[in-house]
Amino acid sequence: MSDYPAWGHYIHGGYTQPDPAQALQEYDPRDGSATWRVARGTAAEVDQAVRSAHGAQAAWADTKPLDRGRLLTRIANRLREEAERFAAIEQRETGKPLPQARGDLELAAQYFEFYGGLAPGLEGEAIDIGPERLCYTRREPYGVVGIILPWNAPLNQAARAAAPALAAGNAVVAKPSEFTSVSLLCFAELAVQCGLPAGLLNVVTGTGPEAGAALVRHPDVAKIAFTGSVRAGREIGLMAAERTLPVTLELGGKSPNIVFADANLDDAVAGSLRAFTVNAGQACIAGTRCLVERSLYDDFVARLAAAAGDLRVGAADGDHVGPIITEAQYQRVQDYFDIARQEGARALTGGTVEGGQGSGWFVPPTIFTDAPATARIAREEIFGPVCVVLPFDGEAEAIRMANDTDYGLAAGLWTRDVGRAHRVAARLQAGQVYINEYPVGGVETPFGGFKQSGLGREKGREALHHYSQLKTVILKL
Ligand code: NAD
Repeated sequence: MSDYPAWGHYIHGGYTQPDPAQALQEYDPRDGSATWRVARGTAAEVDQAVRSAHGAQAAWADTKPLDRGRLLTRIANRLREEAERFAAIEQRETGKPLPQARGDLELAAQYFEFYGGLAPGLEGEAIDIGPERLCYTRREPYGVVGIILPWNAPLNQAARAAAPALAAGNAVVAKPSEFTSVSLLCFAELAVQCGLPAGLLNVVTGTGPEAGAALVRHPDVAKIAFTGSVRAGREIGLMAAERTLPVTLELGGKSPNIVFADANLDDAVAGSLRAFTVNAGQACIAGTRCLVERSLYDDFVARLAAAAGDLRVGAADGDHVGPIITEAQYQRVQDYFDIARQEGARALTGGTVEGGQGSGWFVPPTIFTDAPATARIAREEIFGPVCVVLPFDGEAEAIRMANDTDYGLAAGLWTRDVGRAHRVAARLQAGQVYINEYPVGGVETPFGGFKQSGLGREKGREALHHYSQLKTVILKL
């Protein structure tokens, strides 16, 4: 890696020449300093990338699935070998402590490893429709898949979509977040060095309304996989509807985390803290609405606040809560602190960034109580290490409060009663439910939103079905 004046797009196995005057600036969230600049893609570069991908895709689809899988596994291994280089890039772009960046990179490698193994397992089935015909189904790639990504775990999210898309025989054009583009550019280069044919993974950098929208609108893009906010997801859904384009939408959340009075209190406190501070709260699955059974409430809240006080805010290796990734998001979290005060909520810990970490965009773990369930801080996704704790009475009310949201990405619950655990899990309107830990799950576990949190599923074997389309063949015997 070298510090070019500005990074070009990565198209057809090479970098384009960027126009430095048009480049977008990235910043290091640890101190707010300017770092890399990346090209500001337009419809012209998107077209170049899609044409290249389109040209490369047919031969890739005809490649034996076992060979496709072997190549993806090679990419996984190589990424692991270069994990330190990539973790350093992602730390510079996201500010997160190095061990957390390493964890994200390991997951990215696992996506390629997992889907490399599954590539030869993309099977159809034979359907008996009587002795006079042979009927079977085939899973076929879409062609060119456009992937649009957020900034909170750049390469992890990119691999989550690109690995199954490639495994199923598609080519990919990816548009990373304009705030964290460099790790994906370098990754596309690494993939080509591993033998991935040029054009199968192209990266166009730039903003959402320019490069992102151009990708959604391009007539040769046959499917879009989007990860990001509900707002942008809706805009993309509307554009996609104009030409009946299949979309996977992985959007935001305001996930409930229910603590019943019979829970193991030590585990519930530690897990509930982790639920809203993971990745400094910049996680779509963050458990930011903590619902606690009233008999346990005072004790639990006191212990949660004490535990939050023990977390170290900073970007050093041993720190727990890194910075907020963009200045705008840092400001937005502070705006919610003002809103919380106006709504009469009480901050048990945090609630201000004063006394923070110099010029970095650090926010301390913040726990609000005394807010009504209707308060904005209890209903809207804040995307920082901020949690609202609300009391409930009994199982039925816990379920009602947990489901009283437009979102439905994840939910957690803590209890020692196995019957209750499954009963409540079945009633929670969320794509993933965690019992007695939060969060949990790996590349193998299907993931996606109920309600406004999204459409379709990523991860697991299930994702392969979202990156392939089913064809039924009927032969008269
Ligand atoms: P964002 O929606 O602002 O941006 C995401 C991506 O979409 C960026 O690449 C952006 O350039 C692009 N974009 C924005 N507007 C667009 C448009 N009109 N057309 C095409 N592309 C457009 O989201 P963000 O701030 O980068 O990420 C935070 C959000 O992402 C949170 O809401 C979080 O919950 C969500 N998220 C969801 C998941 C999940 O798996 N469900 C994972 C991570 C983050």
